[in-house]
Amino acid sequence: LNELLEHEQDLPSTTTDDYTMPLMVNTGLAVDAVALLKNRISGVGLYRTEVPFMITERFPGEKEQTRLYRDQLEGFSPLPVVMRTLDIGGDKDLPYFPIDEANPFLGWRGMRVTLDHPEVLMVQLRAMLKASQGLDNLHVLFPMITNVAEVDEALRLMDRAIVELGEEGMAVRRPRVGVMIEVPATLYQMDALAKRVDFFSVGSNDLTQYFLAVDRNNPRVSDLYDALHPALLTALDKLARDARRLNRPITLCGELAGDPAGALLLMAMGFTGLSMNAPSLPKVRAAIRRVSFSDARTLLVEVMGKDTPDEVHQHLRERMTQWQ
Ligand code: PEP
Ligand code: MG
Repeated sequence: LNELLEHEQDLPSTTTDDYTMPLMVNTGLAVDAVALLKNRISGVGLYRTEVPFMITERFPGEKEQTRLYRDQLEGFSPLPVVMRTLDIGGDKDLPYFPIDEANPFLGWRGMRVTLDHPEVLMVQLRAMLKASQGLDNLHVLFPMITNVAEVDEALRLMDRAIVELGEEGMAVRRPRVGVMIEVPATLYQMDALAKRVDFFSVGSNDLTQYFLAVDRNNPRVSDLYDALHPALLTALDKLARDARRLNRPITLCGELAGDPAGALLLMAMGFTGLSMNAPSLPKVRAAIRRVSFSDARTLLVEVMGKDTPDEVHQHLRERMTQWQ
């Protein structure tokens, strides 16, 4: 399928009525195809910094991290690169930093770990800021935010890193900062969060598991794990509306963005960008190029009237075949 769609890949992700949906990629390790990708995307919507940390034998030092981040920022410049601070715990363990818990997804994860270890976060923030010298595309994203106080604390550390670097003779500005919306509580803290940050990024993988109380990796309950559950569609629609009201960009970087039908629904809701793994780009771009924005709006209204995930999926299957 991807080969068939290859010839479309240098065309814009624009609907038949001229609405452009910015597509971005998720990265982790060094991307070889940067040059090729660059013409086809609007930026890196999620750089998972824990990925390089998973293949080293200890926490990479400031110099090493600076080099890694510089490669990403420089490689994709002038496109924006959203760098997420370390998101370990849950299913992502570092061999040299084991976390042993009965309920890791409800435990010490993401920002909870790095706020308890500010020395780890400080090195990371300093490295990101150093790496962005002379460039203007660094965006920093905080994962697993549950409380607004965590954002305040993270920003305090960011400002401290900026002051430190200033004292060392390196003048840096505060980059744009965003939070992941992946814990359901944050759905109802959008106003308070918008006072503190510049953008939102929805982690639909985790939001789905926490919203539906279904472990994202447990095959026994995988039938229940569904990002298109009607309740979740309502939640995503609310998030897009809130972000628009608060005048903040909102992107989605979970697997849902890489699903063509999901992407059309998110576009119709008003998401300002979709970030996905590079192999999903062709099919998502193709789906967008085959519909009008108003088709996508109609589709959204239709599926939001459904009562069950099965009805949502059946309806999407029918419509998507029509548009192939
Ligand atoms: C998510 O939760 O949707 C997400 C993008 O982050 P991760 O999959 O790394 O948890
Ligand atoms: Mg997540």
